[in-house]
Amino acid sequence: MSVEPLTNLSKLCLHTITTRPWSIEEAAAKYSKAGIGGITVWREALEKRDPATIGQMLSDQGLTIVSLCRGGFFSHREPEKRQSAIDENRKIIDEAAALGAPLIVLVCGADPNQMLEESRRQIVDGIGSILPHAEACGIRLAIEPLHPMYADDRSAINTLKQANDACEQLQSEWIGVVVDVYHVWWDPDLRREIKRSGHNNRLFAFHVCDWKTPTTDLLLDRGLMGEGCIPIRTIRGWMEESGFTGYNEVEIFSTIYWEQNQDRFLEKIKKAYLENT
Ligand code: ZN
Repeated sequence: MSVEPLTNLSKLCLHTITTRPWSIEEAAAKYSKAGIGGITVWREALEKRDPATIGQMLSDQGLTIVSLCRGGFFSHREPEKRQSAIDENRKIIDEAAALGAPLIVLVCGADPNQMLEESRRQIVDGIGSILPHAEACGIRLAIEPLHPMYADDRSAINTLKQANDACEQLQSEWIGVVVDVYHVWWDPDLRREIKRSGHNNRLFAFHVCDWKTPTTDLLLDRGLMGEGCIPIRTIRGWMEESGFTGYNEVEIFSTIYWEQNQDRFLEKIKKAYLENT
């Protein structure tokens, strides 16, 4: 399978966390000037701001709001904590609606004090409780499977198969999946499960970065596309053969890059996007 290289930045979406040192106002101006098409907003970037005002500012800058990151964390042994997660996710849906984000990324959660199967049941129950509100607000929800190294307390959903299974249990067109190459690149069933998601119209988002060797921090040492071992362009090809036409979202958590000059980092992102995505 040959995949055409990307020739422009119109389908590039940047996560605000990728350029964490910039405020959202600064990021929007810089992304827009760089010719980047989309933005995914992390909730921390909205702190002390009115989401509707920010949404207007982003569209004035010519940026498409791709998603709001993130909701989730439904799994808790204690019922009160599960309920407060549901309440919090309802607020996040309201926030997305005010911002004008059509999609919320869900990092579903896990509780190390219980079996993963139990955490997964709670995830399906939790999403099931908020789906009617999401649908009423016109907001889609996307389950992001996380690499199994995060199965203790971040996500009991660790493969795209588990995410697809959860979607099938939930039976709603408002629930789908995020394919983040950092989390799923190693999975021998990846291409088949991407096809399954596409067949069911559930390919809602695509996140890229790279896996460095050695990785010095399991959260904050993600690489630029091309710096590691993930076959990013091949996986993009699998997304596209399965009908995905959305943005290629660059999501890099990296203390190394955050310490650097962000203007120069943005240039590196553009180059890595065109050459290695
Ligand atoms: Zn992601």
